[in-house]
Amino acid sequence: MPYNNPSRTEPPPFLSFCNAVLLCAGEGSRYLHSARHATETATAQKTDTPPPNKLPPNKLLAPLGGKPALQHLCESVQNAGFARILLVLPQHFNEERREHREHNALGTLVSTSLPDAILVEGGARRQDSLLKALEALEAQDKKNDLTQDHNPWVMVFDAARPLVSSEMIARVAQRAKTLCERSLEACVVPLVSVVDSVKRVSKQGRVCASVAREDLRLAQTPQAAPRALLLRLLRDTSATVSDETQLCLAAGCLVEAVEGEAAAHKITTLADVALLEGLLEGSSGRPASAMPEYRSATGFDLHKIAEGASLRLCGVDVAAPFSLQGHSDADVGLHALTDALLSLAGAGDIGDLFPPTDEQWRDADSALFLSRATELLAEAGGQVVSLDVTLLLETPHLGQAKLAMRTRLAELTGLTMERVGVKATTLEGVGALGRKEGVGAFATASARFGASMPLNNFR
Ligand code: MG
Repeated sequence: MPYNNPSRTEPPPFLSFCNAVLLCAGEGSRYLHSARHATETATAQKTDTPPPNKLPPNKLLAPLGGKPALQHLCESVQNAGFARILLVLPQHFNEERREHREHNALGTLVSTSLPDAILVEGGARRQDSLLKALEALEAQDKKNDLTQDHNPWVMVFDAARPLVSSEMIARVAQRAKTLCERSLEACVVPLVSVVDSVKRVSKQGRVCASVAREDLRLAQTPQAAPRALLLRLLRDTSATVSDETQLCLAAGCLVEAVEGEAAAHKITTLADVALLEGLLEGSSGRPASAMPEYRSATGFDLHKIAEGASLRLCGVDVAAPFSLQGHSDADVGLHALTDALLSLAGAGDIGDLFPPTDEQWRDADSALFLSRATELLAEAGGQVVSLDVTLLLETPHLGQAKLAMRTRLAELTGLTMERVGVKATTLEGVGALGRKEGVGAFATASARFGASMPLNNFR
């Protein structure tokens, strides 16, 4: 039996008083309707977004952040340290129905995500499903000669709220533990404020009245209560109730509220899946594989001045009363940038790849070095995002030449102009560069790894 599985580590003491019940038995008819509508619309418009034939019929299997929606909740619950976890699956989820594709997918997900969970076949209504789960707990206790005292509470999750955070589970658990220690028959419910104005409507849909929203709240799950209390109330009631709070309130029990959260939004239609997807992206909850990583690196170079009448900076020849010494064309701007790119590529530095002792690089156009560094970066999975150079020289004044340099760098790297910066500064006569003994350059390069760059970022 799962509870006695010796391979399972003991739950942390904080939640060992409580069992988790995940209600996964809902029909999801409104979701199914919206999924069918999306399929028909996409087919009529011949679009592939979302792929019409890939929408699963069960909302708990809807793709969310790169995995089935239910998997998010399974992972949160598995990590919380409950005494036992029960999954209430759709009615008729049994061996005879395992050939059914939807049930198979749900069964595979559950067995891999929550291998120790107790599976229970659901009932017609939410409360029937919960009653079956509580009876399964009771039966297992009886079999193991245990009483309810060892884990007397239960936390009930609506599986259609897949992004419930571990913080909210902890909030509900903390309040439940306090009530449990005082042996109170009480219920804990997470609530959120009503932000829209509320109207009462007639059966015909006509607006009859405005309702003050100040004292209204929306109830979410998980809700927690003593399982003996829920078992007794569920067996005694003939009325249909929407949740544990309603059941407990009807019996005159204490109900305590904790703060709910936007992420616990319930999937009712396909639009809710899109809304949750947006929340996931906003909180960086996307799978790591889909998240780009940005890195930056710097480079520096300096060349001594020599006799001559021009110098090459960032691929542009500039008239000057001197030139620069170097084995290649001595382009300090391109050398500094090449070093920054090589660093991003994890490919050493410019001296490693293009040593000044190698005759093939004598008088070479340094654009070759920059191009090779960009190739090496691409081979390392990186795509250059921006480049920035600061040239350090007293003379000549660069003026419009800086624009020509940006244009040349954009040509060499395929970046748009706004992603390339070229600046120049004098050294106010200070130091070797200030005494015009040489020209230096600082460069910064940024690259994106792990995701393809949208085409509109490039020319
Ligand atoms: Mg150099």
